[in-house]
Amino acid sequence: MTRVQTFVIVGAALAGAKAAETLREEGFDGRVVLIGAEPDRPYERPPLSKEYLRGEAGREKVYVHDEGFYAEHEIELRTATAVERLEPGSHEVVLAGGERLAYDRLLLSTGAEPRRLTIPGAELEGVHVLRTVADSDRLRARLDRGGHLVVVGAGWIGSEVAASARQRGMEVTVLDPLSVPLERVLGREVGGIYRDIHLDHGVRMLLGTGVEAFEGATAVERVRISGGRAIDCDLVVVGIGVTPRTELAANAGIAVENGILVDDRLRTSAAAVFAAGDVANAEHRLFGRLRIEHWSNALHQGPAAARGMLGRGTAYDRVPYFFSDQYDVGMEYSGYAVGWDEVVFRGDPASREFIAFWLREGRVLAGMNVNVWDVTDSIQALVRERAPVDRARLTDPGTPLEQLAERRTS
Ligand SMILES: Cc1cc2nc3c(=O)[nH]c(=O)nc-3n(C[C@H](O)[C@H](O)[C@H](O)COP(=O)(O)OP(=O)(O)OC[C@H]3O[C@@H](n4cnc5c(N)ncnc54)[C@H](O)[C@@H]3O)c2cc1C
Repeated sequence: MTRVQTFVIVGAALAGAKAAETLREEGFDGRVVLIGAEPDRPYERPPLSKEYLRGEAGREKVYVHDEGFYAEHEIELRTATAVERLEPGSHEVVLAGGERLAYDRLLLSTGAEPRRLTIPGAELEGVHVLRTVADSDRLRARLDRGGHLVVVGAGWIGSEVAASARQRGMEVTVLDPLSVPLERVLGREVGGIYRDIHLDHGVRMLLGTGVEAFEGATAVERVRISGGRAIDCDLVVVGIGVTPRTELAANAGIAVENGILVDDRLRTSAAAVFAAGDVANAEHRLFGRLRIEHWSNALHQGPAAARGMLGRGTAYDRVPYFFSDQYDVGMEYSGYAVGWDEVVFRGDPASREFIAFWLREGRVLAGMNVNVWDVTDSIQALVRERAPVDRARLTDPGTPLEQLAERRTS
């Protein structure tokens, strides 16, 4: 009689849930145990700063699977259960409370958690971060009351929260020490477009501005900014990035550096242990090492890791992709650009319907389509091929993008 194998997944969000689904799709008939610290079954986070936060979508819209899915597929979903320790030597995980669970293969999809400020007043009521559906519920209740919201950090989450709060009629101020929103990812030129979009919607943008303290009797009433000036407010959202949750792995002696280090098949330094999603810092054929904190990466790496757990893994080399919606401006970004020579545009950025390309040595590192749709495959082909591109044709809206990509792949 063959022993039933047990595959354990720690982290029951998008990467973990998709991995569990894939194990069953691929015909694995052993035990699948999906363990998550949150009380909810796996859900997706993008709506939490967008339609869910604005009250335009209900709870049912955020879940990865229907309620009955896990039981139907004999996936043992254990919510509100934290894994406290890993013991890779004996192939066991230890749950809070002491229960031990042996695994044949283990997937770590523990995600990331919001960075917090350590300045005075950071613990005051009314100072929020946004990661979980519970965070979004709390924030949504506050948005309903109106008033003045100060957003600290003009990254993706801060920008989306600012947009949603404006759409709900709040007064909104955004603070960031950099000179434009999203500067680290998009650079000054494209970040400037996002600054203008927020200004057009009546957001006060205090850029090049740091935050020194939050003040108030019990709840936040003021934000003290660099230079000593204070801004009255009713509510603060801090969106200053996330930190990968690597403690379990690190404490177990698994190699960690800006995330859990995995190879291109998502294998960690410990035998039979894989990692995927926001927590994984993966080797990538095109870009070297990458830790991607985006929905699409969790969606695809979870299944890729599951196939690896079954011994059917192949190198994960998808072109990184993410999207954002702010007001009536939707965008998709494909690729990964650091250290580009120039940004060129196809279409007029002022029209807010354009594609931006980040180029280095005449090659496309990344492309971002804004209110232009169905071009992702062509942009990704350009990024993947890495051949020198004809700049005039790239920026000419009359030349179909797929022709550029086809010409180069043929
Ligand atoms: C508000 C918001 C909006 C976003 N919008 C976009 C967007 O528009 N576009 C985009 O591309 N991306 C977006 N993202 C990013 C995207 O949601 C993440 O990349 C994705 O959630 C990563 O999924 P994950 O499964 O890797 O990890 P996570 O979603 O972080 O989930 C990890 C899970 O593991 C659990 N866990 C951790 N440690 C333990 C433990 N020891 N024991 C048990 N469970 C544990 C956690 O509780 C958590 O539920 C957004 C994120 C947020 C927060």
